[in-house]
Amino acid sequence: MEQMDGLTVTACERCPELCESRSRIVSGVGPEDADLVFVGEAPGATEDERGEPFVGRSGDVLDDALRDAGLARADVRITNCVRCRPPDNRDPTDDELANCREYLERELDLLDPEVIVTLGKVPSEHLLERSVGVTNEAGTVTETRIAGAPRRVLVSVHPAATLYDPSQRETFAETIDTAADLAGVEDSGDGQARLGDF
Ligand code: SF4
Repeated sequence: MEQMDGLTVTACERCPELCESRSRIVSGVGPEDADLVFVGEAPGATEDERGEPFVGRSGDVLDDALRDAGLARADVRITNCVRCRPPDNRDPTDDELANCREYLERELDLLDPEVIVTLGKVPSEHLLERSVGVTNEAGTVTETRIAGAPRRVLVSVHPAATLYDPSQRETFAETIDTAADLAGVEDSGDGQARLGDF
């Protein structure tokens, strides 16, 4: 695909409004063989500025939960349904989601992860192709097909939800624990990092 270099989208002008509002394309980050991939909705202001998904406050929440589950940010892949920041942080439109889907599908194909964690309503509905109540469904796993391949999707609340609703913190932490288990991260039983040298 000429717009991609490996998993990085290098040039794309499919979404006219997003081309206006973005300052850069924000591709996924993390190992290209990660067992665990997190999928968010779209870059926000900080992500657009820094060129990386889930940085800023939501990123801190995610990083903390990963650490508590014995993982480091560097161990996992983090990406978005759309790679360019929508104006005024609005939700991406159906057309924009469809435009960017090819890149996400290619990313998932190349990663072939053990589990895909959808962070919030938009990515959950986009990948499960149905309406999703994330608060009720958080922590549930669905076996589905994405671009023809069998995939395991774990629904999660958005990390930012824990900032304005503290009751979501436990739900989020438990979901990340489940993600680590599904990805085959072994529990050392001492509450310490579970990936060897971490
Ligand atoms: S959001 Fe995706 S499809 Fe739309 S312009 Fe950006 S990279 Fe292209």
